[in-house]
Amino acid sequence: MIHVTKTFLPNKEKYQSYVDKIFEAGWITNNGPMVKELEKRLATFLGVKNIVLVSNGTVALEIAYRTLELKGFVITTPFSFVATTSSLVTNGLLPIFCDINSKTLNMDYKKIETLITPNTSAILPVHVFGNACDVEEIQEIANKHNLKVIYDAAHAFGVTYKDKNVLNYGDISTLSFHATKLFHTIEGGALIINDDELVQKARFLINFGIDGVESVKELGTNAKMNEFQAAMGLAVLDEIEAVQNKRKEDFEYYEKYLKNLVDFQLLNVNSKHNYSYCPILLENERKVLEIKEALAKSNIFPRRYFYPSLDTLPYIEPKQYCEISRDISTRILCLPMSYELLQSEQDTIISIIKECLK
Ligand SMILES: *Cc1c(COP(=O)(O)O)cnc(C)c1O
Repeated sequence: MIHVTKTFLPNKEKYQSYVDKIFEAGWITNNGPMVKELEKRLATFLGVKNIVLVSNGTVALEIAYRTLELKGFVITTPFSFVATTSSLVTNGLLPIFCDINSKTLNMDYKKIETLITPNTSAILPVHVFGNACDVEEIQEIANKHNLKVIYDAAHAFGVTYKDKNVLNYGDISTLSFHATKLFHTIEGGALIINDDELVQKARFLINFGIDGVESVKELGTNAKMNEFQAAMGLAVLDEIEAVQNKRKEDFEYYEKYLKNLVDFQLLNVNSKHNYSYCPILLENERKVLEIKEALAKSNIFPRRYFYPSLDTLPYIEPKQYCEISRDISTRILCLPMSYELLQSEQDTIISIIKECLK
């Protein structure tokens, strides 16, 4: 069976050697040496000043909202994984959906300003499939209206914008290190925070707001990454270049054989991409379902990322309507890519798609 992705498992002996160190130290959670080492290595690898590791990408978003003390309305994209929106709602914030650009699939920054009201506290764009947002334009709008900017950068591991890591933009960027992501820690996530004081605040928030042995400074939660997660991260990081290169090869192979038949996402020209996903856009939903069914017969399972459009979620009130996101979500399909995917398997996928498009 071939799925949209397959978790990268690092060299087992390497992982074991990190686990041995955990046993020697006898320290398995609460900001231990593995977490500290991973934070240091990731900051260097990504080229960011501050990184705070947490237990997953959803909680990273929630900690970001609480660190910045968001209130009221947050302008976000309807074309993302459900956690981008649900994390707002569970924190008492109302998502205001800004429709996307039909080519880049990212929030259309030209539509942001019309959605701003006195109740708006922040903008929450997503670098969808690792495609860098219009970060400079978005920052300009935020500055003009005194809004915070949080990037859900769950797909943007290793993406640069104008030779700087894209995670450096906005007040906070969040990452997901879930097993299905390009870089993973089994479950895990991180916050990239520019302001040093806010880093301290986030560190309190992820550890119950505790400020010393017998002192609680603020209302916090438990969002700590444990040592075994960090050990997995270190082992994956040891091999990340090979993982990244393989993704690029897979992506370029699909592109080479399908680019005249289907549309690909328009990538930001100022950005170095990470090829974390390979979405293709088809003429209509009927074609998507036809291709999905044909591939399923060969035990191949791409995914309809992202379907449904988040402005259709039943728990969002008042109802909102984003025409472009709804259209795109019905006719997009993400093709399988993984470290283990064979070129012969890609050939099969390509030929089945071609057959359906005849
Ligand atoms: C994966 C993902 C998340 C959630 O991350 P978890 O680590 O699974 O909690 C949030 N936003 C986007 C865009 C994602 O793809």
